[in-house]
Amino acid sequence: MPANAQDKQNTPDFSEIEVMHTLADRDNTAALRQLQEYKEKLDKNADYVLRAEVLKTLIAVLYDAGKLKEADATNAELLQLAKAHNDTDMIGLALIGEAFQLLDKGKFAQALVKLGDIQQSLRDSKNAEVLMRLNIAFGTVQLAIGNFDKSLPYSLEALRLADFIPRRQLQAKLYRMESIARLYLSMHNAEKALETTDEALAMAPKIDTPKTIASLFMTRGLALIDLNKYAEALESYKKVVQIAQDAGMPGVEATALGNISDYYLHVHKYAEAERAARMSLEKAQVIDDKFAIALAKANIGFGLAGQKKFSQGISYINEAKKFFMETGSKSDVENLLSEIGNMYEAADLHKEALAIVREQQKLSDELFRSDRARAVATLQEQFNAQERQKQIELLARENQLKDAEIQNRRLQQVILALAAVVMVMVGVVIFFLYKRVRKTNEKLIEVNQQLEFHAVRDPLTGLYNRRSFVDLMKARIILPEGERREDSLENPDCLILMDIDHFKNINDNYGHAAGDAVLMEVAHRLRNTVRDTDMVLRWGGEEFLIYSPRSNPAQLKNLVDRVLRTIGEEGMDVDGKKVPVTLTAGFISLPFSGMSETICNWEKALQIADMALYLGKVNGRNRAYGVTRLLKPYAEALPVLDHDLSAAIKDGMVELAEVHGPVKAAANNLHEATENPVAV
Ligand code: GH3
Ligand code: MG
Ligand code: MG
Repeated sequence: MPANAQDKQNTPDFSEIEVMHTLADRDNTAALRQLQEYKEKLDKNADYVLRAEVLKTLIAVLYDAGKLKEADATNAELLQLAKAHNDTDMIGLALIGEAFQLLDKGKFAQALVKLGDIQQSLRDSKNAEVLMRLNIAFGTVQLAIGNFDKSLPYSLEALRLADFIPRRQLQAKLYRMESIARLYLSMHNAEKALETTDEALAMAPKIDTPKTIASLFMTRGLALIDLNKYAEALESYKKVVQIAQDAGMPGVEATALGNISDYYLHVHKYAEAERAARMSLEKAQVIDDKFAIALAKANIGFGLAGQKKFSQGISYINEAKKFFMETGSKSDVENLLSEIGNMYEAADLHKEALAIVREQQKLSDELFRSDRARAVATLQEQFNAQERQKQIELLARENQLKDAEIQNRRLQQVILALAAVVMVMVGVVIFFLYKRVRKTNEKLIEVNQQLEFHAVRDPLTGLYNRRSFVDLMKARIILPEGERREDSLENPDCLILMDIDHFKNINDNYGHAAGDAVLMEVAHRLRNTVRDTDMVLRWGGEEFLIYSPRSNPAQLKNLVDRVLRTIGEEGMDVDGKKVPVTLTAGFISLPFSGMSETICNWEKALQIADMALYLGKVNGRNRAYGVTRLLKPYAEALPVLDHDLSAAIKDGMVELAEVHGPVKAAANNLHEATENPVAV
């Protein structure tokens, strides 16, 4: 076989890595172990391409195993190796990994900037795999900021490129189609989702990827539920159970059985629900997945309660509740409670439950009244007819009356308890159904919450949320260059992006609840500082945004100064303690520097404000930087400003405004300044 021998000399042998990668489709843990051993054994002088391939595969498998820190470290190793070999494509691949890290930390703007740079560096690349990853990354960022429409073309392009990657094309395709199906699902297009899963499943038998196929069937089930095709959904979930059993994936099996149990609860088949949940529990215990264990216990509890085995059921539910109380974050729980409130109104079950409870109460009242009346009447009769035995009878009847009273009170108590159980069940079933969706669809959760419930407000602070701002901006009319309103240039809108300084310290030193209280107080003070026509938003965890339409540019620094002072001047009362709080801000006008918004739109402006904020952090916090004007033609300045504010400043491309926070606050000892101030 001379041809083969020749091949072997030129390209390294990837077959071993491919076997391990394929093993990861079924058994991630085993594949991870083998890959790590393989990497250990691999000679430092081994072929570069081979070493890069091992690292690349290892990163993917580590990521899937949830070992994010190790994945990040391995990515850094890959970057170093690629740089040492001047391999532009591989460098790009590792940098895309870094963009994903930013994304995981919720730094969407920075991730987009980074991806833009990577795209530039890869403009001549023909490497389908790298380009596929780039499209996946862009699609994921767009998804994370709720731009489903923008995410979709990237996902479809990634799918197209999958045909051109050197190995495992079909696996990649199936994987891409699975995520596209989920995307459709979150766009409320269950029909498209179903179409996509079915198309993928038609290709699937050609290849052994039980993990992906199981995911496809799971997504298919979710789509069918959306389409009210419950029986078919059940079949899909059962299919997942089958695949998971055959391939030995107890975690997947536990989730599918949980979905089946949810389904039975939904159709009031409580014994079946209990049975499926018990099987789910058994599987979840095999892998010691605490979350899945708690979910299964909750479902067992509801199943039992549905079969009127209340005391047994309640103890299961309480076990589960305890776990969620201990692990769920307060804002999560609050969020859920308000959602449950919304859903109560929508759920027929709730009305039925209430009706039953009311009916029972009415019956009980009537029962109580008639028993009492009868007892009194009898008493009267006895009193009249047998005066001589009056005392004795009276006593006896009095006792009877008391008995009736006691009995009725007890009955009422039972009914009230029952009512509570029914209410709790309705609430908690919805709670756990919601939790389940969250589990199955983890990455989309934030977006889903916003989209599915059309929430305009942030539940903790009552401020507008990010979604409502994005909607507002989308509705914004952008006039082309020639038709720009003079007015919008004289009175541009203003964006102030803020991030609380060292907020983690506040959480760590005073507790998460105190952290929440500080967020509420910050929201309150901000709202009191701005005009009625200004909009204050909670942009993210401890990030806020002020949108001040038609503002006066000359007054802008004053507004920013007021913002810094209202937060920083007076400590915030939390549990009787004064907590010093400051924030750092970045601000900008829109339209920016007289430019049309077709050239510099709100997203770009916000990205610049974000960089200005970051500069403020680096330079010592408790301050604000504003990018007020371009000093060079935009064609020259914008490409630099796009991703590197410091460079743009250094090259004299932009004018910068600086506003310092109150001095008193800067001296608080809570925020020890560990970083070295960097001069602008
Ligand atoms: P920096 O000055 O660099 O911004 O420091 P920081 O500590 O504020 O930095 P970072 O952004 O890393 O920390 C933000 C923390 O805010 C992390 C997260 O646990 C916390 N957080 C996010 N949302 C909430 C919330 O709703 N409530 C509470 N209590 N904490 C939150
Ligand atoms: Mg932050
Ligand atoms: Mg912060």
